[in-house]
Amino acid sequence: MSRALAVALLSVMFFIGAQHAVRAADATPDGCAALRKHGKAAEAQACYQKLSQQGDPYLRAEGYWGLGMYRDANDQFRLAVAQSDGNALARVRWGRLLHERFNNADAESLFKEALQRDPKNAQAYLGLALVSADGFDNAAIQWNEKALELDPKFVQAHELMANLALEDSDTAAALKQADQAIGLSSDALDGMAIHAAAEVLADRSPDDWFDKIRRVNPSYGEAYALVAHHLVLNRRYQDGIAYYRKAVELDPELWSARSELGINLMRLGQEDEARRELELCYANGFRDAATVNSLRLLDSYKNFVTFKDGTLILKLQKKEADLLRPYFETVAKQAMATYEKKYKFKLPGPVQVEVYPDHEDFAVRTLGMPGLGALGVTFGAVVAMDSPSGRKAGDFNWASTLWHEMSHVYILTMTNHRVPRWFAEGLAVHEETQASPEWGDRVTPEILVAIRDKKLLPVTDLDRGFVRPEYEAQVIVSYYQAGRICDYIQGRWGADKLLEMAHSFAKVEPTVDVIQQDLGISAGDFDHQFLAWLDADVGKTAANFDQWHKGLKDLAQAAKEHHNEEVIADGQQIRVLYPDYVYDANPYEFLAGAYQAQGNKKEAAAVLTDYEKRGGHDPDTLKELASLEEELGSPGEAAATLDRINDIYPHDEQLHRKLGELWLAQSNFPGAIREYSAVLATHPIDVTSARFELAQAYWAAGQKDKAKENVLEALESAPDYRPAQKLLLQLEDDDKGK
Ligand SMILES: [Zn+2]
Repeated sequence: MSRALAVALLSVMFFIGAQHAVRAADATPDGCAALRKHGKAAEAQACYQKLSQQGDPYLRAEGYWGLGMYRDANDQFRLAVAQSDGNALARVRWGRLLHERFNNADAESLFKEALQRDPKNAQAYLGLALVSADGFDNAAIQWNEKALELDPKFVQAHELMANLALEDSDTAAALKQADQAIGLSSDALDGMAIHAAAEVLADRSPDDWFDKIRRVNPSYGEAYALVAHHLVLNRRYQDGIAYYRKAVELDPELWSARSELGINLMRLGQEDEARRELELCYANGFRDAATVNSLRLLDSYKNFVTFKDGTLILKLQKKEADLLRPYFETVAKQAMATYEKKYKFKLPGPVQVEVYPDHEDFAVRTLGMPGLGALGVTFGAVVAMDSPSGRKAGDFNWASTLWHEMSHVYILTMTNHRVPRWFAEGLAVHEETQASPEWGDRVTPEILVAIRDKKLLPVTDLDRGFVRPEYEAQVIVSYYQAGRICDYIQGRWGADKLLEMAHSFAKVEPTVDVIQQDLGISAGDFDHQFLAWLDADVGKTAANFDQWHKGLKDLAQAAKEHHNEEVIADGQQIRVLYPDYVYDANPYEFLAGAYQAQGNKKEAAAVLTDYEKRGGHDPDTLKELASLEEELGSPGEAAATLDRINDIYPHDEQLHRKLGELWLAQSNFPGAIREYSAVLATHPIDVTSARFELAQAYWAAGQKDKAKENVLEALESAPDYRPAQKLLLQLEDDDKGK
């Protein structure tokens, strides 16, 4: 028997005795809900008990739902709908039950069916808004507006609107909606909670509002959970956890809050407590995707290994740990040294970096967070990110991603998590290109189209572009815009100005004031001047977009038909129209192919070097460039090109063999040792030659013990391997010679 069922049965037994408390006539769904809302748990329970015994299946459904007997409630709703096809109410309420029980797909269908039967059903529109709000879908606002249009006195719709506005950092609009709800109803508890959240976000005391809430319902944990939700959304994870704790303290069976508590503890690396909370939710039937997947992820941690020192905790999956560790450690430490100096701030403790080869595992880390398909995410001093092996080779530059996330670690820690999203993201994007002009995302076609169509948001509204996009590409457009804003500020006012702004934001000053104070211009003027600057940089490319797009199509066709002369003539022109286009089917690759076909290696190398400098990161294309560079007598350039691939996709045995060979020949012994070690870490079929090559690198570096160790390993797997026998003899002769 499930715990929920046991609780339900117990309460049935208890309330048979307490039936006199509620007369049959009192038992209406609204009446029961009001009792619960006012914290009268026992009376509410008795009320729902009554409902569950009514003849009308719809009323029975409400009763079972109130008693937490979800399956019975579901059955009764099904019956109610079957008995009366025109019944919109039963459909709306059934949808709400399913929404509450993690089935948004069927909930949405029911709300839509209800609207077919009753096109003016405000409750059905609210239902659709709630479903959309779960995924930070902009449609939530439109559905909710419909609900309010039909019923301007709809308290819950005003409360939802307030919540959506606060999620978008539009505090003024949020408070206005909350006040409307409070004006309409003395028990608009969520409206009051919005006020409390706004106070907490501004670092003021929310006590007055919580007093008001307590007077209506002393155990209304939802109010604290609502505040916690907004804290987490503003990346104030510790504070969010504290509020979730208060929520479950007041209402221990508020499973949604307990699950969030567990998830946020997990985010901060407090895994034992996280597991306890999540298991408690699971055992009590609260099994939404976030709870179940988080528990699964906690289980999978046994497949990870952790490397720790005073400043870095690196958590890697066992199978790829040996391969990735040296590269990740190097980049993480470089990033930390850079930021420590640049931001004039030393972290109080180590940073934890978790690298997930299974993208689904990483995705669990971002469940319930806004934004689409990110590569990395930072929770205070914990960074979780995709492993390069979790995506298609060349999909992203992991070193650039790690550099980005490390900026968040510093900025969030040093401002006590009080920077707006646009600034944190913009600065992190800006830092990627500061570290290397080849890093960071280029201006993509959808960004160019947004610039051309004048869809960039004013800086004071930019947060909304990250949280609730109005068009599909708005999240990446917003990343780009925020990054360029930081480029612009650094260029015009100097790098320290960005730091000054971070410190101003830390005092919880809004964007509009920070820009006025620190930059000395109004936010409106800032937008104007920034857009003019951006236009000078990419305006022409944006204007060229259609011409480029058509030209690229023709170019691809010409390349397919091997019309090399045409590819070269047109390709050079098309590339100039939009030089940052280094993605699929780019002119650089078509041009290089045409030059190669004509035997013109020099031009092929030149065009691919340009591709490399523009941040092109397809591993095969970069390897092609490296071979050309080697053939043209520049082994140093070839090695540098191959080393770039380590930042992109190090899961490549041949890459490490070739780079090891080049570096050994160039007397870069530490580099050669690292690369031949990486060959071994890829678990090659030919272990013998890998060991032997590593032994050679150690020998060349003067590390004879290591050389001997590896040459003996090589001979163990292949005793007749002549080059290894020879090297062992040399090593032994060398010893004697001493
Ligand atoms: Zn970021």
